[in-house]
Amino acid sequence: MQRPRVKTAHRPQRVGEDRVRIGGRVYGIAAEIKDPHGRVWAMLNALDGTRTVDQVVSHLVHRFPDLTEDEVRSGLDQLIEAGYVTDAVAPDPEVLTERETERYSRSRAFFEWVDLVPRENGWHAQHRLRETKAILVGVGGTGGAAALALAGSGIGWLHCVEPDVVELSNLNRQILYTERDIGRPKVEAAVERLQALNSDIAVTGGDARVTGPDMLADLIRRFDLLILCADQPAEIRSWANIACMRTGTPWVYGGYHGPQVTAGIYRPGTGPCYECIRVGAAERREQGPPLTEYSVADDEPRIHPANAVSAGVSGNLVAHLAISSITGAPGVPPNRVFGFNLARPDHSFVLDAGEPHERCPACGVTP
Ligand SMILES: [Zn+2]
Repeated sequence: MQRPRVKTAHRPQRVGEDRVRIGGRVYGIAAEIKDPHGRVWAMLNALDGTRTVDQVVSHLVHRFPDLTEDEVRSGLDQLIEAGYVTDAVAPDPEVLTERETERYSRSRAFFEWVDLVPRENGWHAQHRLRETKAILVGVGGTGGAAALALAGSGIGWLHCVEPDVVELSNLNRQILYTERDIGRPKVEAAVERLQALNSDIAVTGGDARVTGPDMLADLIRRFDLLILCADQPAEIRSWANIACMRTGTPWVYGGYHGPQVTAGIYRPGTGPCYECIRVGAAERREQGPPLTEYSVADDEPRIHPANAVSAGVSGNLVAHLAISSITGAPGVPPNRVFGFNLARPDHSFVLDAGEPHERCPACGVTP
């Protein structure tokens, strides 16, 4: 690091006389440091991007004669390791064009804020996105919102897979499409719309209908990430789990159950899989009293309750997990499901099996 500078979004505050808060004020990013002698505060104020590391050290040693150079260097290293400091003179990577650096300037600022891993320069996450080939299966409500977020964010190549055509009843939630698209293959309209949003990325499409794990494994093999937004047929997430374990492909999925939105993130081989969580949940249900389903005949056609909000939150959450999986900014831990309840916006939850389930049909070891 040549000229260390505290990240703009992480500018510190002095709290009372003996503490410093760094990292802004957002939970998960900010931290408090004890500083009874004002040394940390002085160091942070020296990290304005105008001094070299040696100049910072001599500045601090001069101001606090009882400090050694090694102590100052160690303190600075800790701040850098914690992700609060960037290099003010790091050159922009040559792989991004001038148009891209202008286009993604807000993304860079966002990633720099949420990324607590030290990087060579602030464009790390954007560069990773640009290099990524992702396949998105199911371009409906969730998938359309996810695709818009990922295309806008500059994912390098987005391949969309969707066999259906646009219908009027889709338009309450599938914001990728317009009335002019009714009757068109969704994938055709999706590619056109996404490419119009961002012509600097590659967007392609296919109209395949997923029929099983073998077919899905063949489909995803050449991609870095699967984004599963289809919820039909009912087994499709189990198929994705098998296909991704076989190909070693990280994957994310999302959907909703009425107002309850969920999104999962998995990295095969690094912890419990999708089925581990499912098996554990089924076992917990079996331990409770038996359940009897309501037997009144239902003549109403079965529809999936959803609106633009539930689909949008679901799709954007999926896109967030996809971006996290690709860039590590922020580093969301994988192999779990995140849920958010629109009926009670103060209620969110995590499904985390902790360890692979011993009776998981996909990855567990049966004793
Ligand atoms: Zn498993």
